[in-house]
Amino acid sequence: MTTLLEVRDVSKAFGGVQANVDISLRVPEGKIIGLIGPNGSGKTTLFSSIVGYHPIDSGSIRFEGNEISKLRVRQIARRGLLRTFQQTRIYGGMTCMQNMLISTSMRGQTLVHLFASQRSGEHGRAEELLEFVGLYQKRYLLAGDLSFGQQKLLEFAMALMNEPKLLMLDEPTAGINPTLINGLIDRLVHANANFGITLFVIEHNMRVIMNLAEHIYCLAHGRLLAEGKPDEIQNDQRVVEAYLGA
Ligand code: ADP
Repeated sequence: MTTLLEVRDVSKAFGGVQANVDISLRVPEGKIIGLIGPNGSGKTTLFSSIVGYHPIDSGSIRFEGNEISKLRVRQIARRGLLRTFQQTRIYGGMTCMQNMLISTSMRGQTLVHLFASQRSGEHGRAEELLEFVGLYQKRYLLAGDLSFGQQKLLEFAMALMNEPKLLMLDEPTAGINPTLINGLIDRLVHANANFGITLFVIEHNMRVIMNLAEHIYCLAHGRLLAEGKPDEIQNDQRVVEAYLGA
């Protein structure tokens, strides 16, 4: 099994707060891997470190075998490693289509690209992906007028525009209604199985992550507390206590 992402002994502090301490984990190619832990346990910090949002204090982060911990967000994105956020980062004043077309600027293109892309195959691909997430009918509506759940689906489609090898999702189901949750999960599984995208997912909804992920890492107080298959994690006393004590 090829390791796509390898985090080794990563530590990160903010002032006196040790947000991550000596964390090591692996994300194998083609899998769906979960990251759980109580609030403040360091999950988002780890995601931010991996995608180059801030420098780490020590340790190493390898993507496809290459050290990426000194690279910038854009350089890392260009290699095929992307993340989405708990709060969506869409442009509310632009249409869904425009958001889709601008999203490839993550790969380093500029705004001018938006206009050039109208003529290229990207327009068709944007429509296909909007169809895939169920937003085709809303493609010319302002993204700001979508419900929060629909905005999350749009953000997911925008990430797919970049054809990531690894997509890291920070609480994809937070704040969205149960009907949309099921639709989103189905699409995550489809993207993994059919588009070959490896997923690394932070998720608070235990039912979701236990069904979705094949292997789960659990953080507590900035450290790796446990790892294993969903049923092992669910029955791990340390994990249960970490959540009860949170
Ligand atoms: P989680 O995602 O598991 O809720 P975080 O990674 O957001 O946890 O936070 C881990 C710890 O690091 C918390 O104590 C949080 O207050 C702290 N922290 C996170 N980001 C910053 C920051 N930019 N500045 C200062 N402290 C931070």
